[in-house]
Amino acid sequence: MPLIQSLSPEFRQRCEAIATEQRSLLRVRSFEPLPADILATKLGARLFTPDRVPNLEPEQVTLLLASDGWSGAIISDHPLWIVYNPRHALTRRESNLMHEIAHVLLNHKSVGFDPVTGLPKRKQNNEDEATYLGGCLQIPKRGLLWATQRKMLLPQIAGHFGASEPMVQFRSNVTNVPVKCL
Ligand SMILES: [Zn+2]
Repeated sequence: MPLIQSLSPEFRQRCEAIATEQRSLLRVRSFEPLPADILATKLGARLFTPDRVPNLEPEQVTLLLASDGWSGAIISDHPLWIVYNPRHALTRRESNLMHEIAHVLLNHKSVGFDPVTGLPKRKQNNEDEATYLGGCLQIPKRGLLWATQRKMLLPQIAGHFGASEPMVQFRSNVTNVPVKCL
């Protein structure tokens, strides 16, 4: 996961604060897993696979169901509807959904639509910001510290938070919290 030198230390701190705030609103502590669908529900979002989206063109449904090349998208702001790619592994779905939820929490707006998928597009900087906040929502820095203090290894941390191993490595890199693999 290459990122994110462009994001300021202030922004990164703000993301940790947002993650802390969202967890406290849900009474989920920093070291506990936070499934994306729990947070989505609290924010009033409905989650859809492409075949369940009301009124989506059949051609678009077919295209989205056949492609690995997209992750998720906000297809309506009011009501808040998020479509996700059911072809991706569960751990990746979690990060995909947290990424979309991050766009909501950061109040990002779309800038047009992808000509192939028909899904909304956003500025690259917004994409980087959402990826960063999404990671904080999945594994807050304090949660990562908790895990390493308990001598949990990278695969155990991934399993605990329902995250992919690359996500744990990414969070370790950007928070300077060393995580051992073995
Ligand atoms: Zn995005």
